[in-house]
Amino acid sequence: MYLDNIEIHGFKSFGDAVKLNIPHGITGVIGPNGSGKSNVADAIRWVLGEQSAKSLRGSKMEDIIFAGTSKRKSLGYAEVAMVIKNPNKIMSIDYSDVVIKRRIYRSGESEYFINGSQCRLKDIQELFMDTGVGKEGYSIIGQGQIDRVLSSKPEERRTLFEEAAGIYKYKVRRLEAEKKLDKERENLTRVKDILSEIE
Ligand code: ATP
Repeated sequence: MYLDNIEIHGFKSFGDAVKLNIPHGITGVIGPNGSGKSNVADAIRWVLGEQSAKSLRGSKMEDIIFAGTSKRKSLGYAEVAMVIKNPNKIMSIDYSDVVIKRRIYRSGESEYFINGSQCRLKDIQELFMDTGVGKEGYSIIGQGQIDRVLSSKPEERRTLFEEAAGIYKYKVRRLEAEKKLDKERENLTRVKDILSEIE
Protein backbone atom coordinates (compact mmCIF):
# COMPACT_ATOMS: atom_id res chain seq x y z
CA MET A 1 0.00 0.00 0.00
CA TYR A 2 1.52 3.35 -0.98
CA LEU A 3 0.60 6.91 -1.90
CA ASP A 4 0.66 7.29 -5.68
CA ASN A 5 -0.45 10.87 -6.24
CA ILE A 6 -2.33 13.73 -4.71
CA GLU A 7 -4.48 16.35 -6.45
CA ILE A 8 -5.04 19.66 -4.72
CA HIS A 9 -7.41 22.41 -5.82
CA GLY A 10 -8.38 25.46 -3.80
CA PHE A 11 -6.60 24.23 -0.67
CA LYS A 12 -4.62 27.03 1.04
CA SER A 13 -2.03 28.41 -1.43
CA PHE A 14 -3.12 26.05 -4.25
CA GLY A 15 -5.44 28.34 -6.22
CA ASP A 16 -4.78 26.31 -9.38
CA ALA A 17 -5.39 22.58 -9.53
CA VAL A 18 -2.12 20.66 -9.16
CA LYS A 19 -1.31 16.98 -9.35
CA LEU A 20 1.71 15.77 -7.40
CA ASN A 21 2.99 12.36 -8.42
CA ILE A 22 4.80 10.55 -5.62
CA PRO A 23 7.37 8.21 -7.18
CA HIS A 24 8.79 5.16 -5.35
CA GLY A 25 11.57 5.85 -2.89
CA ILE A 26 12.06 9.05 -0.97
CA THR A 27 10.31 12.22 -2.13
CA GLY A 28 11.38 15.62 -0.85
CA VAL A 29 9.35 18.80 -1.26
CA ILE A 30 11.60 21.80 -1.72
CA GLY A 31 10.88 25.49 -2.26
CA PRO A 32 11.40 28.97 -0.83
CA ASN A 33 9.93 29.97 2.53
CA GLY A 34 6.18 30.40 2.38
CA SER A 35 5.85 28.66 -1.00
CA GLY A 36 3.44 26.00 0.31
CA LYS A 37 5.59 22.98 1.29
CA SER A 38 3.85 22.44 4.63
CA ASN A 39 0.51 23.00 2.90
CA VAL A 40 1.11 19.73 1.01
CA ALA A 41 1.42 17.83 4.31
CA ASP A 42 -1.64 19.71 5.63
CA ALA A 43 -3.59 18.66 2.51
CA ILE A 44 -2.72 14.99 3.16
CA ARG A 45 -3.77 15.22 6.82
CA TRP A 46 -6.97 17.04 5.84
CA VAL A 47 -8.09 14.53 3.21
CA LEU A 48 -7.55 11.77 5.79
CA GLY A 49 -10.20 13.45 7.93
CA GLU A 50 -8.39 15.97 10.14
CA GLN A 51 -11.09 17.89 12.05
CA SER A 52 -8.96 20.38 13.93
CA ALA A 53 -8.45 23.68 12.09
CA LYS A 54 -5.78 24.55 14.65
CA SER A 55 -3.63 21.59 13.74
CA LEU A 56 -3.88 22.74 10.10
CA ARG A 57 -2.58 26.12 11.28
CA GLY A 58 -5.90 27.93 10.85
CA SER A 59 -8.52 29.27 13.26
CA LYS A 60 -11.56 27.83 11.49
CA MET A 61 -11.87 25.14 8.80
CA GLU A 62 -12.91 27.63 6.06
CA ASP A 63 -9.42 29.21 6.43
CA ILE A 64 -8.04 26.37 4.34
CA ILE A 65 -9.97 27.54 1.24
CA PHE A 66 -7.83 29.58 -1.18
CA ALA A 67 -8.29 33.17 -0.03
CA GLY A 68 -7.13 34.79 -3.28
CA THR A 69 -4.24 37.11 -4.00
CA SER A 70 -3.90 40.67 -5.32
CA LYS A 71 -4.25 39.20 -8.83
CA ARG A 72 -6.65 36.32 -8.23
CA LYS A 73 -10.14 35.94 -6.83
CA SER A 74 -10.72 33.68 -3.85
CA LEU A 75 -12.39 30.30 -4.43
CA GLY A 76 -15.64 28.96 -3.05
CA TYR A 77 -14.40 25.51 -2.18
CA ALA A 78 -11.30 23.40 -1.59
CA GLU A 79 -10.80 19.86 -2.76
CA VAL A 80 -8.05 17.29 -2.16
CA ALA A 81 -7.96 13.81 -3.66
CA MET A 82 -5.33 11.19 -3.01
CA VAL A 83 -4.76 7.97 -4.88
CA ILE A 84 -3.44 5.07 -2.85
CA LYS A 85 -2.27 1.89 -4.49
CA ASN A 86 -3.61 -1.07 -2.56
CA PRO A 87 -2.14 -4.12 -4.36
CA ASN A 88 -1.93 -6.31 -1.23
CA LYS A 89 -5.40 -5.27 -0.02
CA ILE A 90 -3.97 -3.98 3.24
CA MET A 91 -6.94 -1.63 3.18
CA SER A 92 -10.01 -3.81 3.37
CA ILE A 93 -11.59 -2.67 0.11
CA ASP A 94 -11.76 -4.61 -3.11
CA TYR A 95 -9.90 -2.04 -5.24
CA SER A 96 -6.22 -1.88 -6.07
CA ASP A 97 -6.48 1.90 -6.66
CA VAL A 98 -8.28 3.70 -3.86
CA VAL A 99 -9.22 7.37 -4.34
CA ILE A 100 -10.07 9.31 -1.20
CA LYS A 101 -11.51 12.77 -1.74
CA ARG A 102 -12.67 15.55 0.57
CA ARG A 103 -14.30 18.83 -0.40
CA ILE A 104 -15.26 21.79 1.76
CA TYR A 105 -17.45 24.79 0.92
CA ARG A 106 -17.37 28.24 2.51
CA SER A 107 -20.58 27.29 4.35
CA GLY A 108 -18.35 24.87 6.32
CA GLU A 109 -20.02 21.79 4.83
CA SER A 110 -17.56 18.93 4.13
CA GLU A 111 -18.08 16.06 1.70
CA TYR A 112 -16.12 12.81 1.60
CA PHE A 113 -15.77 10.33 -1.24
CA ILE A 114 -14.25 6.88 -1.64
CA ASN A 115 -13.69 5.97 -5.30
CA GLY A 116 -16.23 8.57 -6.43
CA SER A 117 -19.04 7.52 -4.08
CA GLN A 118 -20.02 9.94 -1.37
CA CYS A 119 -19.41 8.50 2.08
CA ARG A 120 -19.16 9.45 5.74
CA LEU A 121 -15.98 10.54 7.51
CA LYS A 122 -16.37 7.37 9.58
CA ASP A 123 -16.04 5.23 6.41
CA ILE A 124 -12.70 6.87 5.60
CA GLN A 125 -11.50 6.51 9.18
CA GLU A 126 -12.45 2.83 9.22
CA LEU A 127 -10.72 2.22 5.88
CA PHE A 128 -7.42 3.44 7.30
CA MET A 129 -7.71 1.90 10.74
CA ASP A 130 -4.85 -0.51 11.50
CA THR A 131 -2.95 0.54 8.37
CA GLY A 132 -0.85 3.09 10.28
CA VAL A 133 -2.14 5.89 8.05
CA GLY A 134 -5.24 7.18 9.87
CA LYS A 135 -5.55 9.88 12.49
CA GLU A 136 -4.14 7.62 15.20
CA GLY A 137 -1.46 6.39 12.81
CA TYR A 138 2.24 7.05 12.69
CA SER A 139 2.70 7.73 8.97
CA ILE A 140 2.64 11.50 9.45
CA ILE A 141 5.10 12.64 12.08
CA GLY A 142 4.72 16.36 12.66
CA GLN A 143 7.18 18.74 14.26
CA GLY A 144 7.56 17.99 17.96
CA GLN A 145 5.58 14.74 17.71
CA ILE A 146 8.57 12.50 18.52
CA ASP A 147 9.06 14.45 21.76
CA ARG A 148 5.34 14.14 22.51
CA VAL A 149 5.42 10.37 21.94
CA LEU A 150 8.50 9.94 24.16
CA SER A 151 7.11 12.06 26.97
CA SER A 152 3.49 10.87 26.77
CA LYS A 153 1.87 8.62 29.35
CA PRO A 154 2.20 4.86 28.68
CA GLU A 155 -1.58 4.57 28.07
CA GLU A 156 -1.40 7.28 25.39
CA ARG A 157 1.66 5.72 23.76
CA ARG A 158 -0.15 2.39 23.73
CA THR A 159 -2.51 3.64 20.97
CA LEU A 160 0.41 3.73 18.54
CA PHE A 161 1.37 0.13 19.34
CA GLU A 162 -2.23 -0.97 19.06
CA GLU A 163 -2.48 0.61 15.60
CA ALA A 164 0.79 -1.10 14.53
CA ALA A 165 -0.37 -4.45 15.92
CA GLY A 166 -3.67 -4.15 14.06
CA ILE A 167 -5.93 -4.25 17.11
CA TYR A 168 -7.02 -0.61 17.29
CA LYS A 169 -9.92 -1.27 14.90
CA TYR A 170 -11.28 -4.00 17.21
CA LYS A 171 -10.89 -1.77 20.26
CA VAL A 172 -12.96 0.96 18.58
CA ARG A 173 -15.62 -1.59 17.58
CA ARG A 174 -15.70 -2.98 21.14
CA LEU A 175 -16.27 0.52 22.54
CA GLU A 176 -19.10 1.07 20.03
CA ALA A 177 -20.68 -2.27 20.98
CA GLU A 178 -20.37 -1.46 24.70
CA LYS A 179 -22.10 1.89 24.15
CA LYS A 180 -24.96 0.13 22.32
CA LEU A 181 -25.22 -2.42 25.14
CA ASP A 182 -25.40 0.35 27.75
CA LYS A 183 -28.19 2.01 25.78
CA GLU A 184 -30.08 -1.29 25.52
CA ARG A 185 -29.68 -1.86 29.27
CA GLU A 186 -31.18 1.59 29.90
CA ASN A 187 -34.10 0.77 27.58
CA LEU A 188 -34.63 -2.53 29.38
CA THR A 189 -34.72 -0.82 32.77
CA ARG A 190 -37.29 1.64 31.41
CA VAL A 191 -39.44 -1.19 30.03
CA LYS A 192 -39.24 -3.00 33.39
CA ASP A 193 -40.32 0.21 35.20
CA ILE A 194 -43.31 0.62 32.86
CA LEU A 195 -44.24 -3.06 33.28
CA SER A 196 -44.12 -2.82 37.08
CA GLU A 197 -46.35 0.29 36.91
CA ILE A 198 -48.91 -1.59 34.77
CA GLU A 199 -48.87 -4.70 37.01
P1 ATP B 1 8.41 27.54 5.36
O1 ATP B 1 9.55 27.05 4.56
O2 ATP B 1 8.61 28.96 5.81
O3 ATP B 1 7.98 26.63 6.48
P2 ATP B 1 6.32 26.57 3.53
O4 ATP B 1 6.86 26.41 2.15
O5 ATP B 1 6.15 25.34 4.34
O6 ATP B 1 7.14 27.67 4.35
P3 ATP B 1 3.52 26.95 3.93
O7 ATP B 1 3.45 27.20 5.39
O8 ATP B 1 3.14 25.60 3.40
O9 ATP B 1 4.95 27.37 3.38
O10 ATP B 1 2.62 28.00 3.14
C1 ATP B 1 2.42 29.30 3.60
C2 ATP B 1 1.75 30.08 2.49
O11 ATP B 1 0.44 29.59 2.28
C3 ATP B 1 1.66 31.55 2.85
O12 ATP B 1 2.15 32.30 1.76
C4 ATP B 1 0.17 31.77 3.02
O13 ATP B 1 -0.22 33.04 2.58
C5 ATP B 1 -0.42 30.71 2.11
N1 ATP B 1 -1.77 30.35 2.50
C6 ATP B 1 -2.19 29.72 3.63
N2 ATP B 1 -3.53 29.63 3.66
C7 ATP B 1 -3.97 30.21 2.52
C8 ATP B 1 -5.27 30.44 1.95
N3 ATP B 1 -6.38 30.03 2.55
N4 ATP B 1 -5.33 31.08 0.75
C9 ATP B 1 -4.22 31.49 0.12
N5 ATP B 1 -2.98 31.30 0.58
C10 ATP B 1 -2.85 30.67 1.77
